[in-house]
Amino acid sequence: MNTSTQPRIYLSVPHMSGREAPFVQQAFADNWLSSVGPNLDAFETEVAATLGGEVHTLAVASGTAALHLVLRDIGVGMGDRVAVSTLTFAGSVFPILYLGATPVFIDSESISGNISPELVREYLADAARRGQLPKALIAVHLYGQHCDVDAIAEACEGYGVVLVEDAAESLGATYRGRPTATTAPYSILSFNGNKIVTTTGGGMVVARDAAAIARMKKWANQSREAAVEYLHRELGYNYRMSNVLAGIGRGQLQVLADRVAARQRVASRYADALREVGMTMQGEAPWGTHSRWLSVMFLTEESALTPIELVGALDAENIEARPVWRPMHTQPLFADAPRVGGSVAEQLFRTGICLPSSSSLEDADQHRVIDAIRRALQPSTGESSGERLATAS
Ligand SMILES: *Cc1c(COP(=O)(O)O)cnc(C)c1O
Repeated sequence: MNTSTQPRIYLSVPHMSGREAPFVQQAFADNWLSSVGPNLDAFETEVAATLGGEVHTLAVASGTAALHLVLRDIGVGMGDRVAVSTLTFAGSVFPILYLGATPVFIDSESISGNISPELVREYLADAARRGQLPKALIAVHLYGQHCDVDAIAEACEGYGVVLVEDAAESLGATYRGRPTATTAPYSILSFNGNKIVTTTGGGMVVARDAAAIARMKKWANQSREAAVEYLHRELGYNYRMSNVLAGIGRGQLQVLADRVAARQRVASRYADALREVGMTMQGEAPWGTHSRWLSVMFLTEESALTPIELVGALDAENIEARPVWRPMHTQPLFADAPRVGGSVAEQLFRTGICLPSSSSLEDADQHRVIDAIRRALQPSTGESSGERLATAS
């Protein structure tokens, strides 16, 4: 139960810069209040430029919608298989089900918690022998840390499996000097309110092939044909982003580097402050820079509290934290889905906790979080590190 009188500290909140409002006001002034308009075109161009300029982009209503369009463009349909990281958010997986396909969950490697290249190689070799190759493989960049994508791309290419990057959490991260969302034929981004930059809700398809973007753009607009009357040859969706929200995105994109730097500072403060209570920060893999969308720390198996208990102790002090994603292969919804391994992801779930990581998190608030964790893990010694908070007895 929450007994704190202090204001709530959230896991990850929107952080406006002041540069968004002029773009939004312009949309109102010009009456571009729909799913076409100059902010949309500019936001797509500006995201592509941020990613190095060699990709094509389509702004849509959510990251989940973006992934749905991508899987359809790859040709995923009824009865197909799609491989995906087991340690991820459901938004990485539901679009597979929208298309009537079956997810195959692949375990993590232990350096970054991302999909294991070694298991991908073993799985694809075995699937090829059995004639059950997946159409696509979705590699998630967990909490902003890029997966070891070169090794995965090579394995996928060898078997004709299309690689998709779920870069919803990793905008601003790099892989061997390349921006995230440019290391596969298709990628998706999310601009949900809790992500590094936001349009309040939104997503983007990123693709190397302009023709692919044109196809998906039509589907996202209810598959309207270029005809005066409403002519439809294909199934469509109402997935386009609003021109108003694209204006928010344009302002947010201008401060992306600051937002990433702020989240990295938050992570390094936690790493330094919580080492003494035996917690370790999710590692930064040698192959890339970590955007630190969320600060993820691990407790030892001998820790006084489990992550779920620690989340509860923090909630009692009006602090929002969350366990690491519950692996998809352990979800009741996916009880029958095929999987490859799973014990590494389960171990990360058993020991990992996501701490408040907003780029707007004030120093004093981060100290409140740190003190609360110290008190929860070391009830006898923790009180010296800060004032004891009022709690009901
Ligand atoms: C947020 C997220 C999504 C979904 O994005 P939405 O814009 O919320 O639909 C997909 N995958 C991952 C890994 C995410 O974190």
